[in-house]
Amino acid sequence: MEKILVLLHTTDEGALPKAALETIAAAAVIGAYDLGVIGANAAAAAQSVSAGAAAVFAVEGEQFAQSRYATDAAAAEAIAKASGAAVIFATGTMRFNRALPGVACRLNGACETHIVAIEPDLKVHRWYYRQRMEATLSRAARPWILLLEPGAFESAPAAPGAAATPIAVTVETRTTVTGYHAPNADQQTIRPDAQLLLVAGAGWTKKQKDGATHTPEAAGLILNFVQKTQSSLGSSKSLVDLSGEGQSVLPFLSHLHQVGQTGSSPRHRKGLATCCHGEEPHVVGWRFINDRRAINLDAACGWSRGKADVLYVADSFEVMRELEKLL
Ligand SMILES: Cc1cc2nc3c(=O)[nH]c(=O)nc-3n(C[C@H](O)[C@H](O)[C@H](O)COP(=O)(O)OP(=O)(O)OC[C@H]3O[C@@H](n4cnc5c(N)ncnc54)[C@H](O)[C@@H]3O)c2cc1C
Repeated sequence: MEKILVLLHTTDEGALPKAALETIAAAAVIGAYDLGVIGANAAAAAQSVSAGAAAVFAVEGEQFAQSRYATDAAAAEAIAKASGAAVIFATGTMRFNRALPGVACRLNGACETHIVAIEPDLKVHRWYYRQRMEATLSRAARPWILLLEPGAFESAPAAPGAAATPIAVTVETRTTVTGYHAPNADQQTIRPDAQLLLVAGAGWTKKQKDGATHTPEAAGLILNFVQKTQSSLGSSKSLVDLSGEGQSVLPFLSHLHQVGQTGSSPRHRKGLATCCHGEEPHVVGWRFINDRRAINLDAACGWSRGKADVLYVADSFEVMRELEKLL
């Protein structure tokens, strides 16, 4: 069996993200592994999950606490060399997706992103083209870095073990991290870990039974529901395109919310589509939603043709008003 290294990083607060435990679990079923952790509080974080690891390494210190290509790549390279592993399992976070392909190049190896499954003989499954196609492949190049898609593997329980061997890394940087720009928590409506995805379609902005549009009320109903249930908000392409064209529609929607063939394929336990027709290019983005429901006035809409588990033929305004009362 080839030697495996599990490579993780901590958050800025010094904790391991959930995806770290998924990466450990994915490696543990393949064989023995070393563990390496980079970032703030890396040594303590490594020890908190090192029960199954043969050797444990950590790179920490102020320089490595923040996500930055130069320092992350240097730290990962040092741990990879200390371990000498042939195959490196790493979490496919934004931080590692940016740094590790370059590390593979420095080590004269190869790197795969978006891994969603790994067979015992190290054939890996990965997505292409925004998850529309899945490929199974293996490579002869070593070291081989595999970036595992968060949410695609079961996570292991955190079991503490041996202390980490600190690795000193010296790297000159020209980049200074000054901070983050992020929306306020109450403006944040994309929540990948939420149980429920609420999708808003263009119907919310169309003329209703009384011959008028009711966009401000629609905005209130949607946002209120999303904030109260802490669900994630998605949208159809038609609706985000309207926002982009400068019309006074739903100002909190951007193209990041778009679900579908040319949008995202989020993973949530349940999904509820409102005022959305259920056309194939949209519904294709729902493939990882386990329980799909839709509300549409039109009993012959796309959802009724085998695309939803439950279709409520109803007025979304009325349904959401009732839901608001219940919440
Ligand atoms: C190459 C290609 C790629 C595409 N990629 C994507 C993609 O990634 N994502 C995507 O979403 N689309 C995509 N599309 C567009 C897609 O085909 C549809 O045009 C789009 O999804 C339609 O959006 P919609 O359902 O919100 O709007 P509409 O088709 O306008 O439907 C609005 C629906 O709202 C209903 N409605 C109106 N009022 C109410 C009410 N009060 N209560 C209940 N229901 C109501 C109506 O009955 C209607 O069914 C793509 C198209 C192409 C050609």
